[in-house]
Amino acid sequence: MDYKDLANLIYKDAKNIEYYEEKYPERNLEEGAIVTRFAPSPTGFVHLGSLYQVVIAKKVAEQTNGVFFLRIEDTDQEREVENGVTNIINSLHDFGLNPDEGMTSETNESGKYGPYKQSLRKEIYQAYAKYLIEQGKAYPCFCSEEEIDKIRKKQEAAKIRPGYYGIWAKCRNYTVEEMIQKIKNGEKYIIRLKSPGNESRKIKHHDLIKGNVDFPENDQDIVLIKADGLPTYHFAHAVDDHLMRTTHVIRGDEWLSSIPLHLQLFQVLGFKPPKYAHIAPIMKEDNGGKRKLSKRKDKEAAVGYYTEIGVPKQAVVEYLLNIANSNFENWRKQNPDTDYKAFDLQLNKMSVSGALFDLVKILDISKTIISKYKAKQVYEESLEWAKRYDKELEEMLEKNKEYSIRVFNIERESNKPRKDISKWSDVKREIEYMYDDIFNKNNEEYIYQKINEKEEINKVLNEYISNYYNENDDKEIWFNKIKDLSEKLGYSREVKEYKQNPEKYKGHVGDVSMCLRVAITKRQNTPDLYEIMKILGSKRVAERIVKAIK
Ligand code: GLU
Repeated sequence: MDYKDLANLIYKDAKNIEYYEEKYPERNLEEGAIVTRFAPSPTGFVHLGSLYQVVIAKKVAEQTNGVFFLRIEDTDQEREVENGVTNIINSLHDFGLNPDEGMTSETNESGKYGPYKQSLRKEIYQAYAKYLIEQGKAYPCFCSEEEIDKIRKKQEAAKIRPGYYGIWAKCRNYTVEEMIQKIKNGEKYIIRLKSPGNESRKIKHHDLIKGNVDFPENDQDIVLIKADGLPTYHFAHAVDDHLMRTTHVIRGDEWLSSIPLHLQLFQVLGFKPPKYAHIAPIMKEDNGGKRKLSKRKDKEAAVGYYTEIGVPKQAVVEYLLNIANSNFENWRKQNPDTDYKAFDLQLNKMSVSGALFDLVKILDISKTIISKYKAKQVYEESLEWAKRYDKELEEMLEKNKEYSIRVFNIERESNKPRKDISKWSDVKREIEYMYDDIFNKNNEEYIYQKINEKEEINKVLNEYISNYYNENDDKEIWFNKIKDLSEKLGYSREVKEYKQNPEKYKGHVGDVSMCLRVAITKRQNTPDLYEIMKILGSKRVAERIVKAIK
């Protein structure tokens, strides 16, 4: 009896690996095209760090006319949640990062290299496990959990390296006959790699981000197929990335230390290994120190957070490009209106250590991006957001479409466009005073500044509305009239004059304008007051001023 008999006993029905090698041929892509993937477990949660990997993977694939696919790694079925796959797909979609192939819903997929869900690939893994068993490169291990536990305790007590290797790997030494007998006796088993490695030898590896690294060879007889018949991540990744013809594995650097094992798996399987790029995690400042941005502790770790507060997808992606390649920021300055897709992302320019998370920066990028939108786009995107997250805003925008676009258009499309909106959840606060329903309903006080005595305020407002306001004035005349009013009431026409001789005046034209601004909007900070008054129109301006006087 030989290994072939053993393999046939374990995986009687498994196909020859040639079948799969033919079924999933090399991809017919141009030279240099990168094939890469996002390979999450279907926990539904997408971490900002994962989105970061996606941005990078999709970008390098796109840049080289390659392929970016989505593979669901669901071999750890305890971690699964309902709609986990759908949530991942939706998150990628929310950020404009749809894969070229892979899962498209919980059960559907597109592409010729599937199934793209590991639990559906059981027989493929078994075929490759059989192939290894046939050559004596993998074997059934009959150790129970208690036995493995015992081994670990002994190792701990003796202060030696833990694991199933060398003299500890007791099942690797059974003869084929013994193994066959045990299986026939009904003993439970899993499949392990018979590692050819030696811990005292080193392997050299070139990582596309981390550079040259060396590690001791792997000598652990790791589990390939678990008791439930499903593979471990290590084995599945090797088989899948080979058969899906992945050229570049781009993943979190928590996997860097698995490189000796992974390269060994490719070697024993007879596969050409892919290139690896290990990405450092996004860090967060915490009590003067640094730690990884955490799913448990930081709400900003979930990509859903950005969708919820309404940061446009482009802003999140550009922020991530920014931390991926620090020259992105400069490129953006030089190409303010170019699609980010035109930027050339380089893996070898990525930082070896993790970038520090910076929400202020994200919002700053976002603010600039939104400031370049046309009013109609601001209207459409904020309405889209409001439909999901803010019914009142939705109604406000739906009911007043043309009006709202005019409001958004204040100080837009200029050299120095307004930058008051950095996320869609800011919109209501920034524009609500332009809507009478809300303006009249809200009980906010009028908070005046310099001019703050009731009598004086009323004098300014009364004079203005009776003798100076005319809706048809152009901006220059409008402002000149405010200057005239200022002069009449004892304020300087120019700020400068007041500063030179403060004792001569009650204040300056700015104080008078502020008084009007607060009366009309209840805000001290607004975009251009002239444009606001134009949009409100004389009837509403008068109403508001009368209301303020009362
Ligand atoms: N399922 C693994 C994870 O979520 C994938 C790692 C990889 O990209 O290979 O960490």
